[in-house]
Amino acid sequence: MATETETFAFQAEINQLLSLIINTFYSNKEIFLRELISNSSDALDKIRFESLTDKSKLDAQPELFIHIIPDKATSTLTIVDSGIGMTKSDLVNNLGTIARSGTKEFMEALAAGADVSMIGQFGVGFYSAYLVAERVVVTTKHNDDEQYVWESQAGGSFTVTRDTSGEQLGRGTKMVLYLKDDQMEYLEERRIKDLVKKHSEFISYPISLWTEKTTEKEISDDEDEEEKKDTEEGKVEDVDEEKEEKEKKKKKIKEVSHEWNLVNKQKPIWMRKPEEINKEEYAAFYKSLTNDWEEHLAVKHFSVEGQLEFKAVLFVPKRAPFDLFDNKKKANNIKLYVRRVFIMDNCEELIPEYLSFVKGIVDSEDLPLNISRETLQQNKILKDYVTRMKEGQNEIYYITGESKKAVENSPFLEKLKKKGYEVIYMVDAIDEYAIGQLKEFEGKKLVSATKEGLKLDESEDEKKKQEELKEKFEGLCKVIKEVLGDKVEKVIVSDRVVDSPCCLVTGEYGWTANMERIMKAQALRDSSMAGYMSSKKTMEINPENAIMDELRKRADADKNDKSVKDLVMLLFETSLLTSGFSLEDPNTFGTRIHRMLKLGLSIDEDDEAPENDTDMPPLEDDAGESKMEEVD
Ligand code: ADP
Repeated sequence: MATETETFAFQAEINQLLSLIINTFYSNKEIFLRELISNSSDALDKIRFESLTDKSKLDAQPELFIHIIPDKATSTLTIVDSGIGMTKSDLVNNLGTIARSGTKEFMEALAAGADVSMIGQFGVGFYSAYLVAERVVVTTKHNDDEQYVWESQAGGSFTVTRDTSGEQLGRGTKMVLYLKDDQMEYLEERRIKDLVKKHSEFISYPISLWTEKTTEKEISDDEDEEEKKDTEEGKVEDVDEEKEEKEKKKKKIKEVSHEWNLVNKQKPIWMRKPEEINKEEYAAFYKSLTNDWEEHLAVKHFSVEGQLEFKAVLFVPKRAPFDLFDNKKKANNIKLYVRRVFIMDNCEELIPEYLSFVKGIVDSEDLPLNISRETLQQNKILKDYVTRMKEGQNEIYYITGESKKAVENSPFLEKLKKKGYEVIYMVDAIDEYAIGQLKEFEGKKLVSATKEGLKLDESEDEKKKQEELKEKFEGLCKVIKEVLGDKVEKVIVSDRVVDSPCCLVTGEYGWTANMERIMKAQALRDSSMAGYMSSKKTMEINPENAIMDELRKRADADKNDKSVKDLVMLLFETSLLTSGFSLEDPNTFGTRIHRMLKLGLSIDEDDEAPENDTDMPPLEDDAGESKMEEVD
């Protein structure tokens, strides 16, 4: 049957790992089954996902299943799946010649006393087959290639052979484990059932076990003769018979037949009510999801209804993953399902990077099944927004911030609100990441209300008025820039604030104030970006605000007016806060406010006990009799 057998050497580290697995005594060998079932489940996920956009991918084998076949006659345990299968090059690369980054780490972990059951976490789960098998034969068929057989007894090499005459799989993978002499327990039905229940209960494809069934039948002697001829599956055994029975020409026989027995009967845990699920069930689900050998530390099971509908179960593991700080590794800890169908496990938009240790699933009710990354971001909310857009509105406005409360009264929205434009509040950390990727929706540009470049349609009159104001406030803008120095990039007359005296906007391509807040909160962040991404602030002043007008008059009268300097600092610090930034030096700000309070209450600074003054930072303006009251 075999044609052109090629022999390959295992990659050095894999070879080392294999000898370790074969020659070391491990008590926890049973986990091999979980690893192989988990690989089958992943392979099924992949073909199901491909079939969403191209149904014909399932033609070769329309059913999605995992079969387990113990065979005592040959001492083999076989696991068959109708997953995506492997092409010849997949076989060569995935099962032997290309080392995973986790290979070495896993060996180090083992040397340090880690349990062998951790193997799946390091991405080398397949090799756990050699915990119980002396020889493994993998037959596989991928839609894009012919059927191939991989075979190895470890020992440094494996072979790959094109398989033209063997039983054809249609599509998928069959793993035959030739069990070691002392591992025959894995041929016992009870043992296998218990193992699947323990480790693989929540696999979302049917796992069926090929089971032997014995039925007793009472037949007459002549029927017996007939039966013997008819039964193909064979074994009809005589049962101890009573003599009298024989005389009655009746006979009891044992009939052995085989049938598939579904072993995982649970419905997905996230579809059940949280109050009906106990800790052990969550732990079992967590373990099957993550290949972790320990229970989770914390779990959150919730559903969201409204604009978007989904259910989620999220876990925090007890330990950090070994590759937590490996930036190159794509996080794939949250599995995205749409109506119980697995879609992808590498959707970065689902969770911000700093939460990349969180594991779990999200199952959406209202995303389309053939969802692409782009459609995931263009969710229903945007769809709704566009239908409500005002005439003449060409852009979609949004604001990001820490909470709804923090953004709804933001000075950035004053003009937009006045014009009756709707603004999307984006108050989840993930929004800031997601919106950064999404520049346009249905031809409408997405514009941040807090960044530079917000241009609202104005009438000719409005434009003219704006021009005049710009000219009028040019001097003040210069003075403010001089006072603030490097703190701001530039100072300009605003068209977006209506009530507040001023606001601080950020560059169109840099971080928003909210992003700056999120990035600062990330431990161990990559600080190299902070330099060029952190917000270059532009102060926008409101020419129609009384404070600004008064400041303008003073600055025009005397460029070096000290009270102007102090007030500008105070205005800057206040707008840092109202614009969503954090204060670098809250004490100085506090001191300025206190002084304003004293002025408001007509308390003379000199009346205060001197020790109260000692820790006051020096102020821009030392004049107690400042003209500040006049401003109010
Ligand atoms: P991991 O599954 O963590 O990537 P493994 O060592 O278990 O690591 O498997 C290596 C690779 O071999 C998998 O990533 C997959 O590409 C391939 N593979 C293993 N089992 C199967 C299977 N049943 N069907 C298809 N591909 C498989």
